[in-house]
Amino acid sequence: MPFVTADTQRSDYDVIVVGSGAGGGQSAYSLTMDGARVLMLEAGRNYSAGESSMFRTPDLAPLRGASTPDKPFGFFDATVDGGWSVPGEPYGRASEADAGRFEWWRARMLGGRTNHWGRISLRNGPYDFKPYTRDGLGFDWPIGYDDVAPYYDKVEMLIGVYGSNEGLENTPNSPTGVLLPPPTPLVSDHLIAQRAKRLGIPAIPGHRAVLTRALDHKRVPALLHPGNARAQQILAEDMRERSPCLWATPCGHGCSVRANYQSTTVHLPPALKSGNLDIITDAMVHEVTVGRNGRATGVNFIDRLSGKERHATGRVVVLAASACESARILLNSKSAQHPDGLGNSSGKVGRYLMDTVGSRVSGQIPLLENLPPLNEDGADGHALYVPWWQYREQLAGKLGFARGYHIEFGGGKRMPGVGTGGGIEWLTGGSYGRKFKEDVRRYYGSFVGFDGRGEMIPNERSFCEIDPGVKDKWGIPVLRFHWQWSDHERRQAAHMQTTFGEIIDAMGGRIPHPLKTDGAEAIAPGGSIIHEVGGAIMGSDPKASVTNRWGQTWDVDNLFINDGGVFASNADKNPTLTIMALAWRASDHILERLRRKEL
Ligand SMILES: Cc1cc2nc3c(=O)[nH]c(=O)nc-3n(C[C@H](O)[C@H](O)[C@H](O)COP(=O)(O)OP(=O)(O)OC[C@H]3O[C@@H](n4cnc5c(N)ncnc54)[C@H](O)[C@@H]3O)c2cc1C
Ligand code: SF4
Repeated sequence: MPFVTADTQRSDYDVIVVGSGAGGGQSAYSLTMDGARVLMLEAGRNYSAGESSMFRTPDLAPLRGASTPDKPFGFFDATVDGGWSVPGEPYGRASEADAGRFEWWRARMLGGRTNHWGRISLRNGPYDFKPYTRDGLGFDWPIGYDDVAPYYDKVEMLIGVYGSNEGLENTPNSPTGVLLPPPTPLVSDHLIAQRAKRLGIPAIPGHRAVLTRALDHKRVPALLHPGNARAQQILAEDMRERSPCLWATPCGHGCSVRANYQSTTVHLPPALKSGNLDIITDAMVHEVTVGRNGRATGVNFIDRLSGKERHATGRVVVLAASACESARILLNSKSAQHPDGLGNSSGKVGRYLMDTVGSRVSGQIPLLENLPPLNEDGADGHALYVPWWQYREQLAGKLGFARGYHIEFGGGKRMPGVGTGGGIEWLTGGSYGRKFKEDVRRYYGSFVGFDGRGEMIPNERSFCEIDPGVKDKWGIPVLRFHWQWSDHERRQAAHMQTTFGEIIDAMGGRIPHPLKTDGAEAIAPGGSIIHEVGGAIMGSDPKASVTNRWGQTWDVDNLFINDGGVFASNADKNPTLTIMALAWRASDHILERLRRKEL
């Protein structure tokens, strides 16, 4: 069972999975390795990491690989289709002003955004599942850290995540033997860690889904698939084919040696080898169909190549089209039984949309000037990071905002591209010819950047709905976004700026622009950090949430949401590892109920 078409698909699938990114890939893997017959429907085109331009240098690209509107992350970016806008697939927003603007990044390709993502893979901590209990804001999840921890272990072992166990507050350790060793930090990382420590700010090894050494194909498959010899064999063979990282090529181009996690290189190959997965690409799902008994029967989709309407049938439907796309499918699945859309008896589909709070400061550090090139310079970032460190001050009410942020930072001598050496007039006063070349060499590698990644509290004013007047090129109604930050997020962004300024100061550095101490100016627009979650939140009360603790919709027993839509809060930790852990957990639940013939 491999890639099929609408005409060659079967009629007896156990599960239809919509979307092939982190949530869809993990669902397909977990379900098929344990014997379920799955049809995956992906709106984008087929893609294999063999297409990756990881070894191609910027001089080989038009405009030397510079960012363009259709390739915002540069010509060789692994996002072969999609971006901040998708031709023929518009979306609306209630406000264009920075404060109320929502930006939506979509990848239309097999594997979705996982072909390009930053691979930063942090676990939510125990506090992150019970935020309301701690400070009375937002919502508690109906599950706690202990429910998800076994699945974090499994996902980390499957995809390969490097990191260390530091035992810091709300920054969970992984069990011994789960994480891969962290890479050598860059010189700039060492300096940042040393100077931040003087300010009481801890920098520790980051966690990233990149193989610092070969996966243990003899030990891990048996831990992940106990009692399932066939799954163990498939996984062991697949793990042997993944190479450790070369530390020399930009991960955003995709990784053809399979050294980092992409759904296309990690989840889908073994799932296809199981013989239980069929995939239809270019299949734009727009509706979940429901029988007279109120149960989901399958999905309707547009075959993007022919433009024709098609149907797929399954006993269970899993939506993993990304948080907002899944909400869109639910809202568009209207019927006499479900006039406001499917799974929406609570009126909460599309509600409580969240992104990550983001703010950035860059600086120039004289101590890092004129350094010789070092082996570590090729590494693609996140060797170290700063987890949120001010829980006590926050609890004591000293900060003026709720919830924390972590700091991602970077420096070093990445491969020069167009723009390298530009914009240094604030340091040189303007230079030309030989002096300019000397200046570029002097300053190359002496810049550091700090990105805050903070928790947003869900609010009533940030949501998506169906735009009553606009349809995409297939005739499918599109989303319209509403967005508002609260003072908590704005103050947090201002705090980030001050902190980054202090660290740069402690490094003896300088910054090109004044810090943005007004949070409204400091905060990045909604959606722009590309960590959007919510819109189908899980809860304990069917009137206040869309799904239960398994991601199963309250209204339709055999309909599950296996992407970030179910997040009841959006901790500072980047969401994708949690999306995968929850998708595996939900898949185990589906398998169990399929076995018991309850679905
Ligand atoms: C530049 C960048 C950097 C990032 N860095 C990080 C990071 O370091 N750490 C982290 O945790 N997260 C990061 N993210 C976010 C991460 O990529 C997402 O959280 C993750 O991919 C979400 O997984 P998903 O399966 O929900 O959605 P996606 O990966 O977007 O996959 C959804 C898939 O569904 C398909 N689809 C959509 N609609 C339909 C439809 N109607 N019918 C059929 N198929 C459909 C899409 O084409 C897509 O392939 C980053 C994202 C970007 C873009
Ligand atoms: S740096 Fe490593 S993980 Fe990233 S693309 Fe290169 S080999 Fe792959």
